[in-house]
Amino acid sequence: MQLFTIFGNPVSHSKSPLMHNLAFQGLGYDGVYTRYKLEDGSQLREKFFELGISGANITVPHKESAFEACDELDIFAKKVRAVNTIVNKDGKLYGYNTDAPGFLKAISELKDIERVLFLGAGGTAQATSVILRDAGYDVTLLNRTPLRLEKFKQMGFKTFTFSEFKMSDPFDLVVNMTSAGLEDDSLPCPIEILEEVVPASKASIDVIYGKETPFLKFVKKQNKPTKDGSDMLLYQGIIAFEYFTDHQYSFDEIKPYMQQAFII
Ligand code: NDP
Repeated sequence: MQLFTIFGNPVSHSKSPLMHNLAFQGLGYDGVYTRYKLEDGSQLREKFFELGISGANITVPHKESAFEACDELDIFAKKVRAVNTIVNKDGKLYGYNTDAPGFLKAISELKDIERVLFLGAGGTAQATSVILRDAGYDVTLLNRTPLRLEKFKQMGFKTFTFSEFKMSDPFDLVVNMTSAGLEDDSLPCPIEILEEVVPASKASIDVIYGKETPFLKFVKKQNKPTKDGSDMLLYQGIIAFEYFTDHQYSFDEIKPYMQQAFII
């Protein structure tokens, strides 16, 4: 039997063990998936081998340490310097980023989206903004703290702080990429900005999942379509599972089993 885990801190809330175990059972794959609270990211590689695992997911705050821990990186993980999936192939650790393709898949289900406004400029925004741009979307970032926007400016993205913000053309999609609303009741930006961008948009997404955030409540009041972060979470998991099982199963074969984690 192959063993898999998720490394993170905290990690007790993670849905990944349920998602992956449902897929192992449903597909009859001889694997089991656990969780591991890792305090010190620099120990990731050592723990990986000590536990004798075949693969792992990595969540906050260790995605950069996971990048450092790998022997080989796929092209996209190398570009964004963040790894959330590691596979052990003959004693070598191969690193991938499945968060960003998971998000891309989630937004590709929405129609007629070209111009996207990200509220937030943290680690998740970094990987997802790059994959969206590579796929042809026009991404603008708005963030509370100016310093975080510097690297996005250097990468050629349009950026705004709250006080600088001006909407020249409407955005088709507004995405809450912040953690505002995760453990508090705050909006990701001043309400005046939301009042300008949301009514002019076609849809909104919150990457937070499992709760109706103040941002999603605001968007629903404007009668605009919304999605929370569940699809992104599900899709990154399916893509990771494809790597864990060396592409023995297709996305559509894995999906119905993993999806059950969201209705249990
Ligand atoms: P980071 O810590 O890297 O970045 C946090 C971002 O949120 C920064 O832009 C920060 O702005 C902003 N922010 C935090 N609090 C507030 C606030 N009260 N008002 C305005 N801005 C705020 O986090 P990540 O990028 O790793 O994660 C962002 C979110 O994405 C989290 O909620 C996380 O749960 C979610 N996520 C969801 C996934 C899924 O599968 N659905 C996968 C990965 C992440 P500033 O620079 O000003 O501090």
